[in-house]
Amino acid sequence: MKTLKYILIFQLLFSAGIIFGQEKKEAMKTSENSSKSESQWKEELTPEQYRVLRECGTEPAFTGKYYNHKVGGNYTCAACGAILFSSDTKYDSGSGWPSFYAAIDKEAVKEVADNNYGMRRIEIKCAKCDSHLGHIFPDGPKPTGMRYCVNSASLDFEKTQY
Ligand code: FE
Repeated sequence: MKTLKYILIFQLLFSAGIIFGQEKKEAMKTSENSSKSESQWKEELTPEQYRVLRECGTEPAFTGKYYNHKVGGNYTCAACGAILFSSDTKYDSGSGWPSFYAAIDKEAVKEVADNNYGMRRIEIKCAKCDSHLGHIFPDGPKPTGMRYCVNSASLDFEKTQY
């Protein structure tokens, strides 16, 4: 009888551990992803930024503030502030969107298959907050041969300080 009691107590503690452990994991996931709720994003971003960053929108070509921007510095995620691209890798692709041949590092930008609108494209997202940046195409210049085609609305800019 005593043994049964111990087994029951053990089971109770064990399942409590699983439940609390899962809650902890969920909480960690949220902070790691700097995951804000969509209503929070909506509050913080302009309507155009929200449409592009959170709803995978695209700004019309030749309308964004950075496609013809030639100042030295870093381009950051307009949603979370993560550094994404350097002006050193920016080039004029003629597309009307800011174009880079590389991300600031491999971890900063993630690539996801996008088969919407009858096209096979690769979407690029901010690795830190999962916001939409644009698409990547294999028609860029050397040394990578890639074109990171990014919406100005997804970016902020930090000028290099001398
Ligand atoms: Fe971000």
